[in-house]
Amino acid sequence: MIVGYTQHTMGLPTRSKFVRRHNQDGSHDSICTDCETTVASVENEWQLPPLESAHICDPMNLYRAGQGQAIPSAKSLAVSTNSVPN
Ligand SMILES: [Zn+2]
Repeated sequence: MIVGYTQHTMGLPTRSKFVRRHNQDGSHDSICTDCETTVASVENEWQLPPLESAHICDPMNLYRAGQGQAIPSAKSLAVSTNSVPN
């Protein structure tokens, strides 16, 4: 019998499903890897956690992400070497 053990089942999983992108202009984007949507774009990275917490995936975006039609792909962002054409 397990005593004194609290299991939190109401909360979200602790793994982060957000990918952060640091832009050259100093701003920070957070992209949801589930629905592949930019959750927020802020000047200070510390502003992201509450915005990420408040994010709820749009079913339509989830559907598109599942279909592989979403833009941009959060997975490719992490390894992207493409630069913005000048
Ligand atoms: Zn999402």
